[in-house]
Amino acid sequence: MIISALKSNDSRDSRSPIHIDTISTLTNLGVEILFEDNIGSGIYTSDTNFIDKGITKASRDECIQKSDLVISLQPLTETELSSMKKGSTLLGLMNPFSNSSMINLCADKNINLVSMEFIPRITRAQKMDVLSSQANLAGYAAVLESANYLSNALPMMMTAAGTLKPAKVFIIGVGVAGLQAIATAKRLGARVEAFDTRDVVEEQVKSLGAKFVKIDLGQTGETDQGYAKELTPEQIEKQKELQSTVCERSDIVITTAQLFGRPAPRIIDNKTIENMKPGSVIFDMAVETGGNVEGSIQDEVVINNGVKILGISNLASKVSGHASLALSNNFNHWICDFYDAEKNAINFDFDDEIIKSSVLVYEGSIMNERFK
Ligand code: NAD
Repeated sequence: MIISALKSNDSRDSRSPIHIDTISTLTNLGVEILFEDNIGSGIYTSDTNFIDKGITKASRDECIQKSDLVISLQPLTETELSSMKKGSTLLGLMNPFSNSSMINLCADKNINLVSMEFIPRITRAQKMDVLSSQANLAGYAAVLESANYLSNALPMMMTAAGTLKPAKVFIIGVGVAGLQAIATAKRLGARVEAFDTRDVVEEQVKSLGAKFVKIDLGQTGETDQGYAKELTPEQIEKQKELQSTVCERSDIVITTAQLFGRPAPRIIDNKTIENMKPGSVIFDMAVETGGNVEGSIQDEVVINNGVKILGISNLASKVSGHASLALSNNFNHWICDFYDAEKNAINFDFDDEIIKSSVLVYEGSIMNERFK
């Protein structure tokens, strides 16, 4: 079996799907491994560093055309997909909700497609969960970025020149990213409050030393995969109204509210922004899935009434070294769990919950109900 790893084809994404500290997991399988030249440029790892680990440098075309398993951080172009070997497998971050044409093409061309976004939320699969590994780092990066745009420091400082009050940070949405944002803001000395529609997170918020904001929206809850259930329009209106006083007293508001496979809920509108303090910062972490904040624009800083609204995307790439380490571990675990040494191939066992969920296309058929 030949496995190849492709360099990111998005100039804003500095991450690599392989990492020098984790590559031995793949080389230990005894398979041939190719990597696209310059793959580690965004994490300061040279081609020579990878070659020294026993893997082979190749052009992008060669990687795509020769391999049985291609690892990529983004979907491939139509031409690239068409040049893959029939029966080979593409594994990676495939953004399937926005790429239905790619799913159909993989079926037509007999290319197996594995979307790491569809790793199920079960304990056994946590080591492969790319959404969690990257959201965790994104939550950290969002706090640092927000702090950079604030004209005040985050911690309290008692100095001869006076007492400087700690910044107030409000985190809306306490999933993986939100929890790390709370922890990071606390470590920097801010006073932190947080809200989520899933009441189960109240204990987690408190255990990090932050205050859970109680907003009664009636019946909310989570799906069996642990994702939030969508609120009704009336509940969203109530949430906006009841959380606005917390936004008004905050220096930084970070929104992470997302709904798997659906547009993010719009939970901060101009009415709230107009009452916020000039100079305060809102970070919209859901900007790539439609945005939580009225007026936020992807990769821009919008100033509304003196409030800076940040819509920086691809946040995990801000800490590309650790993001690549975590991603490569996620990919390696999927490959090692399903590599069959006797057949020297991936064992697509559809009785396995992880295969059933993450493999969208197999042997020319679309396997996942959502995309049929
Ligand atoms: P996500 O990125 O889909 O959403 C982020 C957060 O936004 C969630 O906590 C959600 O409840 C919240 N949210 C949605 N609508 C909201 C609204 N209107 N107002 C406020 N908050 C809103 O979720 P995620 O971070 O990927 O994870 C969700 C949960 O799943 C977490 O509790 C996480 O710990 C759990 N999880 C479990 C596993 C596993 O068991 N293997 C793996 C990963 C995550």
